[in-house]
Amino acid sequence: MDITSIKSVSTDAIGFFRFKKLGKKDYLITNDIGEFSILTCEEFDSFTHNILDKKSEKHQELNRKSFFKGPNYEKTLALAYANKHKFLAYGPSLHMIITTLRCNHKCQYCHAAVAPMSAKEFDMTKETATKVVDTIFYTSSINITIEFQWGESLVNWDVVKHVVEYAEIKAGHLKKQLSFALVTNLVSMDEEKLNFLIDHKVGMSTSLDGNEEVHNYNRTYTEGNSYKKVIYWIKRINERYIEAGLHDEKWKPLRIGGALLTITKKTLPAYKEVIDTYCDLWMEGIFLRWLNPYWFAASELEKLSYSEQEWIDFYKKSMDYIIEINKKGTFFREQLTSVYLQKIFAPEDPSFMDIRSPSGIAIGCLAYNYDGKVYASDESRMLGRMGIEDFLMTDMKDTWKETYEAIMNAEVTKIAVQSTCLDGLPGYNDHVYKPYIWVDIIHNFKTTGNLYVPLVKDKKIDMQIAVLDYIFDKLRNNPEDAKILKSWIGL
Ligand code: SF4
Repeated sequence: MDITSIKSVSTDAIGFFRFKKLGKKDYLITNDIGEFSILTCEEFDSFTHNILDKKSEKHQELNRKSFFKGPNYEKTLALAYANKHKFLAYGPSLHMIITTLRCNHKCQYCHAAVAPMSAKEFDMTKETATKVVDTIFYTSSINITIEFQWGESLVNWDVVKHVVEYAEIKAGHLKKQLSFALVTNLVSMDEEKLNFLIDHKVGMSTSLDGNEEVHNYNRTYTEGNSYKKVIYWIKRINERYIEAGLHDEKWKPLRIGGALLTITKKTLPAYKEVIDTYCDLWMEGIFLRWLNPYWFAASELEKLSYSEQEWIDFYKKSMDYIIEINKKGTFFREQLTSVYLQKIFAPEDPSFMDIRSPSGIAIGCLAYNYDGKVYASDESRMLGRMGIEDFLMTDMKDTWKETYEAIMNAEVTKIAVQSTCLDGLPGYNDHVYKPYIWVDIIHNFKTTGNLYVPLVKDKKIDMQIAVLDYIFDKLRNNPEDAKILKSWIGL
């Protein structure tokens, strides 16, 4: 499309849209409520000049998706936009508690961050935990998820139990919806703890880095075989879910809540083995998340990390393999792709804390460190562990009211909202994928020292675009694969 055509676009009849060319024949257009359409070059030309046949299916589709300005255009758009961004109305709902920095592992990507098992001074006390729970229940959201994050929470078990029992009492009094999630390497699990967690409906997720070779390479555990421990407990937890009647008709047996995969250089060639391991354990899916540079010592970067292009190649090969598995009759999804699919197709944003605009940092999630320091996100807390305290919001105050006010009035809260809102950000605001992408200010800050990095210099954006290009390529060219992708979000 040349500049003369762009200047003659019929803006009286056509609403605001962003576009890019797909291959040689098609255009993709999107608008601010996340609707999209794929048009041939001829349709695109007719659309921009407002001469598309009004009786055509394409015209009706574009009208339905608010690409044309009708009599109620502004009102329809405003309502759809508000619905899409409902998450902005509630305040923080994900509260991560770091009950200890101690850990029985020394994973290669984490060894700079955890404390040795003997260092009990890195445990949260019950007194601090009580103040944390009080603060959590003073926040505004009616839905509260308390997530126990690393170090290894099970080694400070008494405080985990205390938080669960005390939070249940508060939720009952204050009529809030409460759920728990425990992130654990499972090494310290035993039957007594498992009974408590199942009785109190604490969701569990663990780390599984693939097959035995890759997992044990990444996840250093000197007391035994980490892979064998985690596999044993995943199977045992699934058994106990069935025994306890926590049984899902679709999923038999119901799996442990999920497992997190951390992809290192070692993982890249073993993608099939890793995916097979997850399938064999009846996992619901796999999350192909890339490595962040704040999980490990800078000296390990060369050994563990990889280029954006290497991750993109890995992602595409893994996705092709996962789709083949689905074609053979096993429902198994890639979770990062599923989040983007929801953003593309669902009327409401899935409100995945990272992948939204503005992001969940400070206003969707909070991280409570073992020592009572409150950070704007888990990654902010990781930077704090590296001595970078720019995302520290406050220390725990005497009362929960004072703590919450300090959180909301912190400079970092205002800056986080402003700098993660894509409207007006150079490059992001203009991109056809603007309704779906996000900006990672912690990553930008850690790698460049600047929160505001233009899109062309944002290393992570290439990976996001690759995921979205993969999805739209399937939607455009491969109906069978597209059907499988849509089934991952219930369509
Ligand atoms: S990644 Fe988790 S299990 Fe590994 S050392 Fe860090 S806290 Fe421990």
